[in-house]
Amino acid sequence: MTIDWLTGRDWRKARLFGPIIALTLGVLTLLVLTSALLVQRFDVTAKLREAHMVDHGFARQVEELDKVVATQVSWDDAILSLDHKRDADWADFNIGNYLYTFNGFTHAFVLDGQEQVFYASHNGDRAGLDAYAPFAPVAAQLIPAIRAAEQRRPPLRHRPGKGNIVVPPIQADTVGVIDGQVYIIGATLVQPDFGHVLPRGARAPIAITAIPIGNRLLGQFSQRYLLDGVKLVTGSQAVPGPGTLLLKDRTGASVAALKWTPRKPSAVLFDELLLPLLVALGLVCAVALTIMRRSGAVVSDLIASEARAKHLAFHDPLTRLPNRAMLFERLHTLLGRLGTRGGTVTVICVDLDRFKEINDTLGHHAGDLVIETMAVRLRSACPDAELIARLGGDEFVVLCTRSDCASAPDIGLRIRSHLAAPLQCEYGLLDIDCSIGVVVVDHAGVEPTEALRWADLALYRSKQEGKGRVTLFRPEMDAALQDRRAMEADLRRALTDGGLSIVYQPQVDLQGRVNSVEALLRWTHVERGEVPPGLFIPLAEESGLILPLGEYVLRRVFAETGAWRRARVAINVSAEQMRAPGFAALVARLAAEAGISPTRYEIELTETALLGDEPVTVGNIEALKRLGFSFALDDFGTGYSSLSVLQRFSVDKIKIDRSFVSGLEADREAEALVDAMIRLARALELRVIAEGVESEAQRDQLVKCGCTEFQGYLVGRPMTLEQVAELAGEGGNAPPRRFRRAG
Ligand code: C2E
Ligand code: CA
Ligand code: CA
Repeated sequence: MTIDWLTGRDWRKARLFGPIIALTLGVLTLLVLTSALLVQRFDVTAKLREAHMVDHGFARQVEELDKVVATQVSWDDAILSLDHKRDADWADFNIGNYLYTFNGFTHAFVLDGQEQVFYASHNGDRAGLDAYAPFAPVAAQLIPAIRAAEQRRPPLRHRPGKGNIVVPPIQADTVGVIDGQVYIIGATLVQPDFGHVLPRGARAPIAITAIPIGNRLLGQFSQRYLLDGVKLVTGSQAVPGPGTLLLKDRTGASVAALKWTPRKPSAVLFDELLLPLLVALGLVCAVALTIMRRSGAVVSDLIASEARAKHLAFHDPLTRLPNRAMLFERLHTLLGRLGTRGGTVTVICVDLDRFKEINDTLGHHAGDLVIETMAVRLRSACPDAELIARLGGDEFVVLCTRSDCASAPDIGLRIRSHLAAPLQCEYGLLDIDCSIGVVVVDHAGVEPTEALRWADLALYRSKQEGKGRVTLFRPEMDAALQDRRAMEADLRRALTDGGLSIVYQPQVDLQGRVNSVEALLRWTHVERGEVPPGLFIPLAEESGLILPLGEYVLRRVFAETGAWRRARVAINVSAEQMRAPGFAALVARLAAEAGISPTRYEIELTETALLGDEPVTVGNIEALKRLGFSFALDDFGTGYSSLSVLQRFSVDKIKIDRSFVSGLEADREAEALVDAMIRLARALELRVIAEGVESEAQRDQLVKCGCTEFQGYLVGRPMTLEQVAELAGEGGNAPPRRFRRAG
């Protein structure tokens, strides 16, 4: 790994592998330590045993040498030749020469009862008696012990015919250094064996023998005990240590030391152990590696799936942007920081304009494509944002702190400039725009829900003021919302307590005859006076009030115009009403109650009501058509009308929106559009009416394009039932009144 710092994932793995690695290292260390300890213990015991063996071996060697000497001086002949006589020739043959030749004793002396030397030999040859002088001090250490033993010995008696008298040898030995040479020096009492000849006095002669601890002896010794590097050291070198046997004299002083190279069986053991040890180490490592690899894969899977689950819980699957849950979490943190660190938090709500229409006309796939594109554009618009979240649908929220964002309105405009660009895709060129609401929170103690509500209010204001806008939240907006709430309550009350009424606007044909009227709802508020429908209808649609309100309109219009014989009546119905299950049944019931003829009634729908192919809407439309109601498509040209929608629902009439009509005089393009719309309607055999006709010039141009019906201030403003009934020639027997003949 080349990263300096462990990532979260590595850290988790390390936490799992840590114990495995530690365990493996522990086992390995234990194995090595045990082996080392074992080998070392082995060496220690071996050393002890070797030292013990050398000690014993040396003592045995001395004993054997003693025995050789004892054999030579323990017989009747020796008593005769050395005690009774002083036979130097005998001594040469049996002691000096013999011991030198067969056993390597370099010196042999014989002392009489008074410890006076009377025989000396050196290297097998007779020597002068003065040769004894250097050995005398060492021999002096031995003699007392010999004499003491001699005294303790039971009296020697000759027992004819009973074999030898069996006396154990009386001997003493020690180690001594003479002229730089180390000797084993022994003293042996001369004794009889059969007792034919007994010592003359109380003290028999003593043989003193010396054998150098030299190459011969050391060679034999090392061969016998398989020792390496055996050597003898004296003086200051004769100190205790490994591979050392201290040689002491009778006083206990070390006079020399036998040294050898201690055997290290551990080395052999190590050689033998090495291979099995290596195999064991390899096995342990292999097992650890396997465990790590296996559990590594499992852990990786676990971590990955946990991360996936976490990601899913906090992200929108389509755009991979954080979702509502994560937005709240982050917003909570950022707002919480305001109290301690100051600064500001900017919350930006973004909502695509007319997204529902794209989704409904082109399908969900197109909708998804737009949302994904928006997410990408949002990211590029705010690369430094704290968070960009998708709340679902076409709603996005961007969070910024002062340090990473430009001023609040600027960032709003920047987002809009990035988002509001046409999108070229498989569905053609889609016009995209968005509305934006921004709030800057600069004080502590604000809850995430509140901050979001403020941004949402600003967004709502953008939508209200014509979409494609950026609005900065102002505290009055909250007041406006409260105001809306109050209005909603008032409208609900108006349904039961009064204040609602219907006005009618005439519609004329080419000849200026009032053949039909459009029913329009009015609300007179107790305090506010007239409230425009453009304000309270959307309010009712948003709050669900539109259902009872729509029912009120139908009931009232049926009641007021049910008795008419000829003029047709157009009634506005909201998309929300068409989407309500049972709406057709409600209309049928109301129609039956009022006893009206459905063929005289036309339902005006906006294009949005027909979008989406919702089964309930389709069912309602079909049922109402079967009852005899006809349909007009209101505000035609402002939405995403498509030919297929017109054909599928087989509307009877299109109503060209007044925005096109008002543009007719000044705008050539508007004229071309109106012309195209009328042509299209004719090709589909639909009737066409133009609304918002205010001038003769507009009417003339519409006539030129082929329009046959007109509605607008030119013809008449919305008016009371009585007024319109009179114009339409209803209510009395008068024929329908003509406004103006087409020129
Ligand atoms: P709309 O269906 O497009 O109704 C026509 C609107 O255009 C009416 O506004 C009418 O007063 C106005 N208008 C008529 N001629 C002219 C003209 O020459 N110039 C101009 N500038 N305006 C003209 P109103 O009554 O304020 O209604 C506004 C909207 O409220 C209606 O638009 C309709 O969508 C809705 N609305 C009204 N009554 C009802 C209702 O009973 N139910 C439902 N669902 N919606 C209604
Ligand atoms: Ca209308
Ligand atoms: Ca209209």
